[in-house]
Amino acid sequence: MKKKYIIVGLLILIMALSLGNQKLVNRSLKDTPLAENGFMDLSEWDFLNDGPIELRGQWSFYFNTFLMHEDFGEGTDVPSYAVTIPSTKKSMGQIKPFDKDTYYGTLRLVIQLPETDDTYGLRSEIVLTAYELYVNGQKEDTVGKIGRDVTSSYPSYKVANTFFDVKNHTLELIYHTSDFHFEDSAIIAPTFGLAKQIAYMGEIGLGRDLFLFGILLIMGIYHLSLYWMRRKDASPLYFGLFCLLFATRMLLVGERFIPNIFDLDIMIYVRIAYISVFLGFSALCGYIYHTVYGLFPKRFQRLAWYMGGIASLLTLFIQVPSISILLILYFVVGFIMLIYSMFRLGIGIYRRYKYATGLLFGFVILSATFINDFIYELTLMNSPSLIPLGISIFVFTQAYIIASKFSSAFSLAEHLSVEKESMLLELKHVNANLENMVEIRTQDLQKALDEMAYRSMTDDLTKLPNRRAIMSKLEEVAKCGKRFSIGLIDVDNFKSINDSYGHKTGDWTLIALSEAMKAYVGSKGIIGRWGGEEFLLVLYIDDAEEAMKLANGLREYVAGLTFEAMEANITITIGLSVCEDRSSLDYCINQADEALYLGKKNGRNQCRQAKR
Ligand code: GH3
Ligand code: MG
Ligand code: MG
Repeated sequence: MKKKYIIVGLLILIMALSLGNQKLVNRSLKDTPLAENGFMDLSEWDFLNDGPIELRGQWSFYFNTFLMHEDFGEGTDVPSYAVTIPSTKKSMGQIKPFDKDTYYGTLRLVIQLPETDDTYGLRSEIVLTAYELYVNGQKEDTVGKIGRDVTSSYPSYKVANTFFDVKNHTLELIYHTSDFHFEDSAIIAPTFGLAKQIAYMGEIGLGRDLFLFGILLIMGIYHLSLYWMRRKDASPLYFGLFCLLFATRMLLVGERFIPNIFDLDIMIYVRIAYISVFLGFSALCGYIYHTVYGLFPKRFQRLAWYMGGIASLLTLFIQVPSISILLILYFVVGFIMLIYSMFRLGIGIYRRYKYATGLLFGFVILSATFINDFIYELTLMNSPSLIPLGISIFVFTQAYIIASKFSSAFSLAEHLSVEKESMLLELKHVNANLENMVEIRTQDLQKALDEMAYRSMTDDLTKLPNRRAIMSKLEEVAKCGKRFSIGLIDVDNFKSINDSYGHKTGDWTLIALSEAMKAYVGSKGIIGRWGGEEFLLVLYIDDAEEAMKLANGLREYVAGLTFEAMEANITITIGLSVCEDRSSLDYCINQADEALYLGKKNGRNQCRQAKR
């Protein structure tokens, strides 16, 4: 909210600065005296309170003759024509006694002033293209070089501020003037007032022009630099171009700073001033196109540049009378484009395009001042030049838009960089933990692998090595090349245990029996589950008798065991065999199996050595 007040305040300040000198001239035409037939009565005009006055109305014009103060004293027989100032090609055309638009002559006005003597000032902006000013018979100023033909005259674009004392309350102004170059018969009403008022107008005007020039120059350079450093968005480029083109223009028009210093041919300045508007408008269209990107078709921008380019080229080469035709043509097309742009911007606001409102606001004001000044150029209707005001408001609002565009891009970048930083931190953290995590995962994996290996080699129920494990153990022992013994153990009548006590108790019994046998065998061998209620015993014993002794010990030990929830004891039968080497393993097992079979057949609860 506060921001808005600041913006409005600044806008008002700019307006005040831009319009500064416009207020100095009394422009209410109703009660302002007008000249009639070469005479103007200002005896009742209070310069101190009413301010300077524009010398409008009927001046006397004497075609193709330069008359002096003295000529009028004696009474002249040269015919006088009453021209209405400000004059245009059209109004002059109605009174000229010939067709040509190139001529010279004497422009004269006699003014009755108030009783008090004073020092006065006169500001002449355009009196054809060259003139000499005589005040009460005294030559006071020369602008350009007057002449009777194109070769003897020289057109100028200076503004002349002339100061002089007046006695006897009567003032005679005589302009010897000529135009063999511009052919538009333009005479702007000179402004007349107290010397200090006229001087002040010039100072304020120059201050305004240089102030705006400075703003536009800095804005132009600043935005071109922005574009130079960040090519992604072209709106600063076009805005910068626009600013620089109008900065140039500021030094040519208004107080005509440069023409006053370098008195070059008027056409040079006129051409540059027109081109600055033509190309400036194209840059403006480019700026709009890129600021609300997507709202305008591409051909809008292209058309604007073709138009500006062609008009500028023509301005460089064509002669004066055609320039006004070009201006009218340009004005018509430009006006259509202005209306179209405003229409599109209206749509942009409706569609909630970012920056469309600010753009339309600046654009409407700028367009209004342009239209005003174009009409001024074409008709010299003497409306104040508003372009400086329009431009300053436009430049201000658009610089604000570009700044906000950049600041939101910057905020986004900041936001992203903060986000990036936190991501980086997290990444570092993750990185630091990664090794730890990998180690933990590896350990977990190893555990799972170990578990799987254990499970693949272990019998689920008894936790003894399973058949695969005991077989591989057997092969391992056989590899050593030493003799060893094996025993196949089968629980006697186990089916009846299951039948009498249930399968669960059978399981329990198998578990307890396995633990007991494993403990008994200890380091003398390994025992594994062969399948069902059968076990395979591997003994590191190469002697058959010794093996038989251990097997019998085991058998007796088992027979002496008591089991929970079971009244009867358990007995086992063992078939023993001595193994020679690895190649005879199957044979060795078969032998043990046969011995076991014989043991069973022979009454169970016994050990039997296989026959050799
Ligand atoms: P024999 O003295 O001739 O060996 O008689 P047996 O009853 O022990 O022999 P048989 O081969 O007829 O029966 C073996 C029984 O062992 C059959 C089966 O129910 C039981 N058995 C095998 N494995 C398991 C087991 O894991 N748990 C239980 N509860 N019983 C099993
Ligand atoms: Mg069996
Ligand atoms: Mg059995």
